[in-house]
Amino acid sequence: MPPFRIYDGWVQRSWIGVDIGGTSIKAGRVDGGGKVVARVEVAAPDSLPSFRETILGLLQELGDAAGAGFGCRGIIDTSTSRVVISPGALRYLDGHYLSEFVPAGLAVSADNDARAALAGEVVWGAAQGKPNALMLTIGTGVGGGVVVDGRLLRGATGAGGHLGHINVDPHGPLCVCGARGCLETYVSARALEGKALAALHCGVPSALSDGAVTCESIFARAAEGDALSTSLLGDFFPRLGAAIAGLLFAFDSEIVILGGQISKAGPALYKPIQAEVDARIGPFLKRSVPVVAPACGDGSGIVGAAALAALYNQEC
Ligand SMILES: [Zn+2]
Repeated sequence: MPPFRIYDGWVQRSWIGVDIGGTSIKAGRVDGGGKVVARVEVAAPDSLPSFRETILGLLQELGDAAGAGFGCRGIIDTSTSRVVISPGALRYLDGHYLSEFVPAGLAVSADNDARAALAGEVVWGAAQGKPNALMLTIGTGVGGGVVVDGRLLRGATGAGGHLGHINVDPHGPLCVCGARGCLETYVSARALEGKALAALHCGVPSALSDGAVTCESIFARAAEGDALSTSLLGDFFPRLGAAIAGLLFAFDSEIVILGGQISKAGPALYKPIQAEVDARIGPFLKRSVPVVAPACGDGSGIVGAAALAALYNQEC
């Protein structure tokens, strides 16, 4: 895969981005400036025939484009657009090529959704002009992507950059991947919420019992001085900070982008995690690496998928 190159013709073009998630499919037309100029969202189909019909309908509605990009959960063979493994509700896609769902003649690029998000940040967002960048998307699980020397890291089989499954505790909780103690079992939004619910279930008094327990509410209650929320984040920040620091020693990135559901916590997330990371890398690397929110914002899944098409369908 060649390093990213930006072509002069980009500003006059547009691409279709399709973000395939477990609950919905979001698709849009993205212009050369990274703006979503048309957008459609439908519930995720529950069968292969319905998926085929849905994708065709979405593409028809969005019209002609220079190419289409697909961001999809799981492991995607980027050279062929084949879905190697897609977990959960989208399992019916396993073994299928995403290119088989589009009209003949439309160029298709496809990748894992977290890597697509990073591609969006590379082309139009926080990682623009930065050939070495790291992204973690923290939501139900922890997704990841790495750009090294201007290339999206994929590895031998396309599984490279699945940072949520790096081990942070060999005897830790069981993970969806089958291993124990993965980063995602400690710092995903679900893991944080699960710990809060377990403590509430055991009768620990907390303002969290007043409403729905979400990772946003845990950050908000901690800021108000709630002891349980503060305690949960007291474990969360060192774990995430240590993992990011380790990744920085491995990849020597210029920037770390933290996205996904957890980014809604805002400065209550970014300020402490920056301090944790700086404290751990400073003595050796002698520099600070900014830990920032994604810049693609709303529709980032669509923008990321379109960025794949922009980066890898460059016949101009
Ligand atoms: Zn795992």
